[in-house]
Amino acid sequence: MIHRTEPGCQALSLSTALNQETWQQALANTIRDPRQLFELLQLDPSALPAALAASKDFPLRVPHSFVERMKKGDASDPLLLQVLPRGQELDYQPGFSKDPLEEGNSNPQPGLIHKYQGRVLLVVSGACAINCRYCFRRHFPYQDNNPSRKAWINTLRYIADDPSIHEVILSGGDPLAASDTLLAELTERIADIPHVQRLRIHSRLPIVIPQRINDSCIQWMTKSRLQTIMVIHSNHANELSPEVGERLLTLRQSGVHLLNQTVLLKGINDNSDTLCKLSESLFRYAVLPYYLHLLDRVQGAAHFLTSDKQAGKLVGEMTQRLPGYLVPKLVRELPEKPAKMPVPVLF
Ligand SMILES: *Cc1c(COP(=O)(O)O)cnc(C)c1O
Ligand code: SF4
Repeated sequence: MIHRTEPGCQALSLSTALNQETWQQALANTIRDPRQLFELLQLDPSALPAALAASKDFPLRVPHSFVERMKKGDASDPLLLQVLPRGQELDYQPGFSKDPLEEGNSNPQPGLIHKYQGRVLLVVSGACAINCRYCFRRHFPYQDNNPSRKAWINTLRYIADDPSIHEVILSGGDPLAASDTLLAELTERIADIPHVQRLRIHSRLPIVIPQRINDSCIQWMTKSRLQTIMVIHSNHANELSPEVGERLLTLRQSGVHLLNQTVLLKGINDNSDTLCKLSESLFRYAVLPYYLHLLDRVQGAAHFLTSDKQAGKLVGEMTQRLPGYLVPKLVRELPEKPAKMPVPVLF
């Protein structure tokens, strides 16, 4: 259990203790039927047929606790727009592909992506707790990348055989959708490889199902000799509920470094007030902004695209308004480049 220290928060602590479901239950109980989402949020039913059509291509999936942070009756709520299937997704847009990062090309074996120097990315779990409409993996063959035991042995051997690898990144899907038993064992095996120094976890679960951050995951994250970095994925300050904040502070106090990455999304966070507020709110919970990503050009997400110029200007405004450590790096990912590419900041 995670205990609160601030006396002002006792009421919430009591109520969450009384009706707290486990993270596994929350994961199993995600909302997948657009009708249920429309009912819960009292949305105008005229948008339902489009939602049903778009969810056939890439299903709706959202945990209850994330929906509770949305405003009822507000069709443009910034959290809702991240998960609501919409008609625009079905419009074909030239220049938007199904595998924009061509990850198929840097996949030396199932579940492992070695694209950048010194770092390998492991697809630990194909599952996600939430289906984000802008996701570049919305067409990714997850099923082929749910590694078996044998695949793990090969992956660990690949890392052990390459002394240039200093950091192992657990990714997905969402790596924290995997069990702590598996993750603890994997971490131990990785820590046995002497040239690996850091373990990095990229996950949206601390945001969407905060009770995922519990004693058992803090245990494997902090007990090995590896330095541990958690990169959370938050796009808007409204996602950072008091419970999310509490769990993040606990993680930080346990010695895990906390970073955030955001995707710049038209109509959701494409203005400097929203982005500045996100940075400030993150830091309140001991999280530093890391990347602000331009959208990957994936089929079905074209309506979230902002121009490079507008993005550069937004970060220019942030740079003037915030201390340097609260300004994320503006980047884009391109398949043929050896790193995430910086995008110019404009004043
Ligand atoms: C983003 C990414 C990384 C990590 O890059 P950093 O710039 O170190 O955050 C590593 N591997 C792959 C395949 C990635 O997409
Ligand atoms: S949590 Fe990440 S991988 Fe999963 S759907 Fe959202 S953006 Fe994609």
